[in-house]
Amino acid sequence: MNRFLSSAFRSAAMLLALGLAFGALFWLNHLQAKMAGEEIVMKGWRWKAPVTAKVIPHAPPAKPEAKSAAPLSPAPPSVPPPVEEPLVESPPLVFVDAGHGGMDGGAVAHGITEKNTALDLAKRVAKLLEEAGVTVKMTREDDTFIALEERANMANRAGADLFISIHLNTSGGEDDARGIETYYAPQKALSARLALRELIKMNVGSGILDSRSERLAETVQRFVCRKSGAQNRGVKERNYAVVYRTVCPSILVECGFITHSGEAENLKTTSHREKVAQGVADGVVAFLRAQEADPSRGLKFKAPVTETPDQELLTGP
Ligand SMILES: [Zn+2]
Repeated sequence: MNRFLSSAFRSAAMLLALGLAFGALFWLNHLQAKMAGEEIVMKGWRWKAPVTAKVIPHAPPAKPEAKSAAPLSPAPPSVPPPVEEPLVESPPLVFVDAGHGGMDGGAVAHGITEKNTALDLAKRVAKLLEEAGVTVKMTREDDTFIALEERANMANRAGADLFISIHLNTSGGEDDARGIETYYAPQKALSARLALRELIKMNVGSGILDSRSERLAETVQRFVCRKSGAQNRGVKERNYAVVYRTVCPSILVECGFITHSGEAENLKTTSHREKVAQGVADGVVAFLRAQEADPSRGLKFKAPVTETPDQELLTGP
């Protein structure tokens, strides 16, 4: 009994010591990065609120709002008018990518050719984003073939802040699947990861966790399903070339199943396509506004790792 207890205590103490050691190691790494002057500093942007948006006046720190329905009294005349900060006009650059094109028609079902409907949706998204004050570039604006890698390169060369690829889905059987799903790459290509380090001026030995694409996917997925009423099939991980090779946060939205007769009929109507586009654009703007407030949101230090095959294997099954 005594021996059992003491061995149990010893095990518990060892576990505690191990936990403390790992914690200390992680903390030390983080501290070292901090002491080396490393902070995650991401380039930010600011852009004017669209005309239709609710304008929040630039005011000194807000006092808690009175809960009562008492009429608002005018501000006392002694309060000096707030100093307006000059708004630097540097809107974010969003790349909108219409899937397929030219000799690559994509999927065909129920009288819909993916490349055409994807282009229509992408153009609508681009227009709505421009109306929200965002700078937009499209990988294609007509029926042109562009290789997948080149689409990512176009965005990388232009220093895009976001990349949104628009596609339409298919399933093996007729009418067996419907709804919208959004994909992101859980870890980008090495070239993209190195480019990100360069961009935020991190040491080569430092590790970084970038969860911005996942956040973007979740935000857009939520908005687009709410706006269009489509079934929410969730956010999924997949290393599609366009999202895998782009340096910036990037997603691929499958805007509905053209193999589903009902969904295909919906997608043939302008009103449904406009709702889908509005949902995507709203999600993008919501994400951009959150990043505008905190440009390093979704970027975190992790303990420095040497990226050798052995280390990578440790994370495998
Ligand atoms: Zn496609």
